[in-house]
Amino acid sequence: MSNDKIIWDKLISAGLTPAGAAGLMGNLYAESGLNPQNLQNAYEAKLGFTDETYTAAVDNGTYTNFTHDGAGYGLAQWTHPSRKAALLAHAKNQGRSICDLDVQVNFLRWELLTMFKPLRDKLCTTTSVREASDCVLLQFERPASVNDPDKLQETKDRRAGYAQGFYGRFAKGENNVKLLTCILTENDCYKYNQTIKPKGVMVHSTGANNPLLRRYVQPVASTPGRTDLLAQLGTNPNGNHWNQTRVYVYTDKTRTVGYRDYSKKLKQVLYEPCVHAFVGRLADGTVAAVQTLPWNHRGWHCGVGSKGTANDTHISFEICEDDLTDPAYFGQAYRAAVELTAMLCQQYDLDPLADGVVICHQDGYRRGVASNHGDVYNWFPRYGKTMDDFRAEVVRTMKGEDDMLTYEQWKEYMDRYRQELRADHDQCWAEEELAAAVTAGITDGKRPHDFVTREEAAIMALRSGG
Ligand SMILES: [Zn+2]
Repeated sequence: MSNDKIIWDKLISAGLTPAGAAGLMGNLYAESGLNPQNLQNAYEAKLGFTDETYTAAVDNGTYTNFTHDGAGYGLAQWTHPSRKAALLAHAKNQGRSICDLDVQVNFLRWELLTMFKPLRDKLCTTTSVREASDCVLLQFERPASVNDPDKLQETKDRRAGYAQGFYGRFAKGENNVKLLTCILTENDCYKYNQTIKPKGVMVHSTGANNPLLRRYVQPVASTPGRTDLLAQLGTNPNGNHWNQTRVYVYTDKTRTVGYRDYSKKLKQVLYEPCVHAFVGRLADGTVAAVQTLPWNHRGWHCGVGSKGTANDTHISFEICEDDLTDPAYFGQAYRAAVELTAMLCQQYDLDPLADGVVICHQDGYRRGVASNHGDVYNWFPRYGKTMDDFRAEVVRTMKGEDDMLTYEQWKEYMDRYRQELRADHDQCWAEEELAAAVTAGITDGKRPHDFVTREEAAIMALRSGG
């Protein structure tokens, strides 16, 4: 197993949330590349050591200035004399090398529990990778760049970026929604090139019976990975995809998507509609998401309401509708939408439960920041889902929780179930015969509603035959 996976597992088992573990690991990566033998580069020449020779000299006792030499060492690049002394003591107590991965991660956990308790509490509760990463930077690592305001923001961004990478790799494993990238560079909305500071996510559904992503998303000649994208998406045979100019128009209350000559109404098409992503079926029938605009690009997806427009504030995606009668497709598309939203909230530090953050198009209309469209209430309620359910599932996903029971939980439930069975005396339908069996010495009559083991069954069979 790789160092990073070992560290991840140990941090999770220590009670850190996936976001907390990722935030810590992004910082460790920035400090040491997750190499527990790492001697601060600036000190290699100064002390005349490499990572290996320094480690060996500390381990065998020929180098005695480990604690006070001022050189950063190990996963967290421990530098302060008291912290290095404690690390050395931890290694010696266990008879292990100073570069032992277990020693260092256990020491890290011990430091969090003792000297950095408030930080540990944060890392055990946060669902924000960004928050976790910033807290570790400012409270735990405090590299020199923290004191330079010009460099601080860049350092924060870089470390949060590493943290996001660990989160993406380990937090949800294979449950992650498959996310492709096919930016619609020919769409007028893309060309208009405005940016937003994302404050939320707006969920749409297309209102047209076509679950295939290729209907809307197609690469052009200049799109990176074009061949692979076309293989995965399939080719749109009708040429009415959104990666071109002027592709979308409203006609009375029914939205129609297609070509149209706008020459007479140019003022109305100043902003061409485009969303940041689509969720739908790939050519092989599996459900995936495709990013179609940079996330901080100003999309045009919800029109204008009485108080303004969420185009200025919200990242948006369309879930491709089918004929709304297939529960399997709904379940997959809904789940992909939850995961995509969770990823975006994580990335932009958004609280999905905060007012107006994760909303659908109709929510936006009611809030006065969108045109009057029904999506997603034309679809979700058919399968018993509300936007409150959606938001709650986004939160669970961000915490790395899923619906699977752990074995420990299952055992706990099993114990509870058996206790309930035992307690359930009122409904004993076999009172008389059970009493007779007790009299005949076949059973002791205890726990009449609980399971019988093979041993008990064998003994009862013997006694009743006797
Ligand atoms: Zn909509």
